[in-house]
Amino acid sequence: MRSSLFPFILAALALHVAKVNSAFTFGKHDHSHSSYGGSCGIHPTQIASTEEHFQKHKGNRLSDSHNTDYAWATIAINFHIVGSNQTVLDIIGRDERIEAQMKVLDEAYAPARIQWKLANVTRTINETWWAKTGEGLFDEDPTRPLDANPSEREMKESLSARDSSVLDVFVVDLVPGPSLGGYVRTLPGWYADDPKHELERDQVDGVILNWNALPLHPQPSAAEIFTGKVLVHEVGHWMGLLHTFGHGHEAPGSCEGPGDYVDDTPTQAYATHGQLTAKTLEQCIPQDSCPDIPGLDSINNYMDYAPEVCQHEFTPGQIWRLRALLDLYRQIPAY
Ligand SMILES: [Zn+2]
Repeated sequence: MRSSLFPFILAALALHVAKVNSAFTFGKHDHSHSSYGGSCGIHPTQIASTEEHFQKHKGNRLSDSHNTDYAWATIAINFHIVGSNQTVLDIIGRDERIEAQMKVLDEAYAPARIQWKLANVTRTINETWWAKTGEGLFDEDPTRPLDANPSEREMKESLSARDSSVLDVFVVDLVPGPSLGGYVRTLPGWYADDPKHELERDQVDGVILNWNALPLHPQPSAAEIFTGKVLVHEVGHWMGLLHTFGHGHEAPGSCEGPGDYVDDTPTQAYATHGQLTAKTLEQCIPQDSCPDIPGLDSINNYMDYAPEVCQHEFTPGQIWRLRALLDLYRQIPAY
């Protein structure tokens, strides 16, 4: 296993496996996760360089985090449903599932004055795209996404809107298993960091979503677990938000360093994970992974890894940051 993983990965609850432990490594912090937890990493170079780019280019207009008078924005979204055959396609990408997902996105992003417009739904039968997306994800060179999974790149190039302000969501069967809910490969600032990356956007940008993670799963036990928050989380990454825990720190798993570059998310060493079996919001009890620093871990935050029933907020600091990032990198004005 590589010592640092590049893509942002949300490892959601496995469907049929109650207690599968997978020993992912993130940074220097080895952690065994139950199927409820997750592990996720990002290449520190990309975090540092995109943050540097943001600080350098945000200018006065995007510097005032107290200006919360955001303009309402409507972001167009395309769902690209991919299946191995017609039967699979009919099951995974039913219209009701997409409609339910849209509602969850609207609700989650309303405090940021963002609403979503369903622009296009494509349905494609392609066994390779369906089965191979995500393959090799944990072994790739994190600095070279263009060397990554050729079938994923082909799918994105064929289907994507080729517009940085439009969100493409690719719904597939993720090979690393039902525990992988989705991922994005890059921070949006990465495309601006180097002009040649901009040319690669069509093959790299967008959210990959495990079909299991859409709401209204045909299996009732899964439908209880997956309520549409995986996509809320991945879209946060697509906008440029980091996890509330881990990777920005000097040594992941420690309480040092800049964290997620958001002032009002308490310092958090590692994800809310494992063993956490909350079924109601009241059962969501936060851990305190950095006890010497004020604040409990962000169990209610979309950018942590808690069970979906716990997730219901972005902080004002995250909202300011995502609006500024959308403005700078995706041509969606903040004010
Ligand atoms: Zn994530």
